[in-house]
Amino acid sequence: MREVVTAEGETYDIELEEDLLQANRRLAEENRELLRKHGVKAIDIMGSVGSGKTSLIDRFIQKLGKKYSIAVLNGDLTTTIDSDRLKVHRVPVVQINTGRECHLDANLVQKALKKFDLEKLSLIFIENVGNIICPVEFPLGSEKRLTVVSVTEGPYIVVKHPLSFLGSDVVAINKIDLAEIVDVNVDKLEEDISKVNPRARIARVSCKSGEGIDSVLEALEL
Ligand code: MG
Ligand code: ZN
Repeated sequence: MREVVTAEGETYDIELEEDLLQANRRLAEENRELLRKHGVKAIDIMGSVGSGKTSLIDRFIQKLGKKYSIAVLNGDLTTTIDSDRLKVHRVPVVQINTGRECHLDANLVQKALKKFDLEKLSLIFIENVGNIICPVEFPLGSEKRLTVVSVTEGPYIVVKHPLSFLGSDVVAINKIDLAEIVDVNVDKLEEDISKVNPRARIARVSCKSGEGIDSVLEALEL
């Protein structure tokens, strides 16, 4: 997937990056094994800033709070806005401030998981840093990867960022209540996603009204 770079120095850089991604995959496998051992499902939630990741988690907790013992891992560059918001549900929330890093990685998640009593949990939502580009390259060891895309991101969000959709098990198209206002064709968005990733399950949702939350949960098999 990476372009071949002929200049020697640049090739070296790419090898370094491959090592990094390889190391991340190994740690992700460790996380997966740790979670499996404790019978905890984890869902990694990716998407741009403002796509509705936190709102979706908020809705999920409202729907699933009785069925699962839930915790949230919240990745953010510097703020605690999202984790503060979720704490009202009285579920354990661990905030990961990534500083300048624009994505979570398996190492950060491994450290954060140590702060939970995994024996007491059955489901963890991991809110990735708001960014639709690189998080997908760093699997975290979750059972499923969910990408949230909002119709307000415009009609070209999928064709411009195909990798994110390629790496998702489920895609939630959010803010469908605004589709007409922003003049985005949701059928076309779905088509674009299916073209990039035919195995991705797609659900339409409005976190605002609550419409479609069940279909996202169904797609996540929760
Ligand atoms: Mg958020
Ligand atoms: Zn990044």
